[in-house]
Amino acid sequence: MNAKISEIFDSIQGEGIYMGERHVFVRFFGCNLKCRYCDTKPERYAEYEPGALLDAAKRYQRVSGTICYTGGEPLLQKDFLKEMLPLALTHNFKNYLETNGTLPDALAEVIDYVNVIAMDVKLPGSTGLQQFWDAHRRFLRIAYKKDVFLKAIVTESTTDADIHELICMIEDTHLAVPLVLQPDSGVEVNVLKPKIEKYQSWCTSEGIATCFIPQMHKLLGVK
Ligand code: SF4
Repeated sequence: MNAKISEIFDSIQGEGIYMGERHVFVRFFGCNLKCRYCDTKPERYAEYEPGALLDAAKRYQRVSGTICYTGGEPLLQKDFLKEMLPLALTHNFKNYLETNGTLPDALAEVIDYVNVIAMDVKLPGSTGLQQFWDAHRRFLRIAYKKDVFLKAIVTESTTDADIHELICMIEDTHLAVPLVLQPDSGVEVNVLKPKIEKYQSWCTSEGIATCFIPQMHKLLGVK
């Protein structure tokens, strides 16, 4: 089984609660969504079979022991991941999955081989898309078997109702999962700061551990 891969590179993790770790990034080609704020729309890819991708990742293993599967949406290529993830584990890599959180059935097929899941919550006001609350609830219940955190992008068009639904989703699942509120990188952070601080206080008052974290790699000017 081959995968369509847009790029492979090493850098620091610039998002979420593991920000600052050195990761080998494997960017999968293609996504099932079209978020309004998306900044990842590669046009080219190369095909890799699992052994070749492992060899490519090993070139960076001296500086990083974690492979970050990102996209696009990696779970669209779950049949490849079913081969790749156990292979990476046997070669002492940790598997870190960045996902839009909308494909719970695919996650269920690979969850045993994933160490960390960075799960996006797609807020309709931010994405300009339909809501995915039911899929997100199912996804989160499966992801919670492993180390998982949630990430929601806050934009100028994010609504209070989005955040209320997000809080309901977390409360419905009865799971203690950290939440990262990340400002849209296309907008000056100070413009979104008051809004995010308001949402952070709402979530915190509901007992949700909530962090306000911008994309660090963009602030540092690294990939
Ligand atoms: S899920 Fe991620 S990669 Fe897909 S369109 Fe949205 S922001 Fe872009």
